[in-house]
Amino acid sequence: MKINSSLEYLLLRYKENKLSQSNLIVTDDIDKCVSELKIVVKNILCSDTFSASCDKCNICHLIDENSLSNFIVIEPDGAAIKKEQVSTLMNKFMLKPDLVNNNVFIIKNAEKLNASSSNTMLKFIEEPSPYNIGFLVTNNINAILPTIISRCQITKVNYNEEIIEDEEIIDLASVFVDKIENDYYNALFFVKENLLSKDYDKDRYILLLRKMLDIYYEVLVNKINEFKSNNDNFMYLNNLNYDILNKKVQILTGYLDRLNYNVNMNLFFDSLIVEMR
Ligand SMILES: [Zn+2]
Repeated sequence: MKINSSLEYLLLRYKENKLSQSNLIVTDDIDKCVSELKIVVKNILCSDTFSASCDKCNICHLIDENSLSNFIVIEPDGAAIKKEQVSTLMNKFMLKPDLVNNNVFIIKNAEKLNASSSNTMLKFIEEPSPYNIGFLVTNNINAILPTIISRCQITKVNYNEEIIEDEEIIDLASVFVDKIENDYYNALFFVKENLLSKDYDKDRYILLLRKMLDIYYEVLVNKINEFKSNNDNFMYLNNLNYDILNKKVQILTGYLDRLNYNVNMNLFFDSLIVEMR
């Protein structure tokens, strides 16, 4: 079975001994992502040479049955993931695993960690036992405690990402970001001249905001993972600190949502620019 290339990359990192012990996976399809992640986990824990249908080892069988004590998946119990669920996991994973090399956990819908379970989770990943590997899977990074985010390696796993191929919009998005960040007083003028005057339909404005969101998001993810952005066009965004980038991602996400309703585009851009500043 073929899995998402970002998940394959995690496996590669594991084989190179470079996989982070705490991983935050941001995906647009949690169920699919978790089921593919289980294949990664089997690769990690399999006692034999893993193959798609490993029927030689008991470990893979136990993983399939959800009955391997060294592999735990936590899902929300009702509306939230509760503190007790996380403390139970902590206690179970205090010991060195016996049958396998690692203890592996998956937190499904990590955005459902509430204030108290988030704090327990934070304690858990702050001082991980050297055998533990964790995957927090979410579809909403903004709902995750920033202190948790800062301790995790972030991986984006998108299944429904439609690649934006509209060159004009791609250019406009990068110039608009540049105006907002470096030439604020002319940003509104830019909008009037280059966006509003063209009388685009709503879909293209949505595309524009999605592209802008991608730009900020990529810099944010690189910053958290301490990669230097490979995109020289947005070097100036690297100078923004984590909190500000995170805030800007949140603002753009909110504005993108507003485009689903009837909005006056003039006022929309006006207040977007003010808030982004
Ligand atoms: Zn196996």
